Amino acid sequence: MDILALDREHVWHPYAAPGTLVHQVVGAKGVRLTLADGRELIDGMSSWWAAIHGYNHPRLNQALRSQLDSMAHVMFGGLTHEPAVRLAQRLAAMTGLEKVFLADSGSVSVEVAIKMAMQATGRSRLMTVRGGYHGDTFGAMAVCDPVNGMHHLFAGALPQHVFAGLPPAEHDEAYLDELDRLVTPDLAAVIVEPIVQGAGGMRFYHPGVLRRLRELTAARGVLLIADEIATGFGRTGELFGCDHAGIRPDIMCLGKALTGGYMTLAATLCTAEVASRIGVLMHGPTYMGNPLATAVANASLDLLEERPWREEVRQIGNVLREGLAGRDSRVMGAIGVIEMPEPVDVAKVQRIAMECGVWLRPFGRLIYTMPPYGISRQDLSAVVEAMVRASA
Ligand SMILES: *Cc1c(COP(=O)(O)O)cnc(C)c1O
Repeated sequence: MDILALDREHVWHPYAAPGTLVHQVVGAKGVRLTLADGRELIDGMSSWWAAIHGYNHPRLNQALRSQLDSMAHVMFGGLTHEPAVRLAQRLAAMTGLEKVFLADSGSVSVEVAIKMAMQATGRSRLMTVRGGYHGDTFGAMAVCDPVNGMHHLFAGALPQHVFAGLPPAEHDEAYLDELDRLVTPDLAAVIVEPIVQGAGGMRFYHPGVLRRLRELTAARGVLLIADEIATGFGRTGELFGCDHAGIRPDIMCLGKALTGGYMTLAATLCTAEVASRIGVLMHGPTYMGNPLATAVANASLDLLEERPWREEVRQIGNVLREGLAGRDSRVMGAIGVIEMPEPVDVAKVQRIAMECGVWLRPFGRLIYTMPPYGISRQDLSAVVEAMVRASA
């Protein structure tokens, strides 16, 4: 069977037309993907921020197998089970946000966060900053960057929200004044990705922005939603992006690395106070709280607790900082970005990276990496080499 031919015939891939160039993976272990032709590639992307512990991890595999032997899934309406309850309790303890809604993907968790904010306040307008990315569903798209997001394609169908400018990398009093003008009491919530803006442009910004947003929203009765789907679980060097600013949001979205890259699962958390204003929350995915996904998420949190992730992330950051110096580059936590003057040719960058034995997925003008935390020094050097060559 010619999988690639059938793929071209029948399958959509992310942000692509059918028939786009793809590579067939037949296995993955540790930080490596094995392609159908036998080549091995070091994954510089952690499968889009998710596979923080690497692939085919014995502990994560075991967690799934044991869960499978008791049950793969039961409806969450009127029923409950230990893996979901344990996960909720642990996430609440990690974040200080007591009430947990388990959603089935990051975008859905953002929809749920927006619903929470609307139900809790009785208002519907949101504020956000430019350069953001919050997912591909309609509510989420409406708070993505209005230019590099997909607003132009769906303009007529998107609610109009309020946008502040790009959050600055350095302390900027004029920007904080702009926030002061835009955070008005008629808003339901302000939604931002804390500290690192991911798919909207891989920008890092000053924690003072988050602190000011926290002060302004609290003072004006507006909720603060932190979308930690990409930044959660240590990637930025702190457990959560909000920790860089020492703030606690009212509502938080988690996803991506929540299951260590094994299953689709996300969570929307809020304070008991917000939950009490909501009462009945009008959302309920068919696969809500899926036992397999919540079981593997618990195992991934166990691994995170055990591994010296702070030190690992710091070391990765040091190697990236040193290796990418001399380019237009930036590094935070275990994230390294080269910004090119022009949009990159994705296929060309991938070909060069693959010649170095590395998998990268650039977008726009950005060639970037966020490798699994356990990547060896040598494998990380290969990733750096691939980025440097691809940007030459
Ligand atoms: C990836 C991402 C989402 C969307 O998550 P999906 O699981 O792809 O729906 C939302 N917000 C942020 C910050 C993300 O990085």
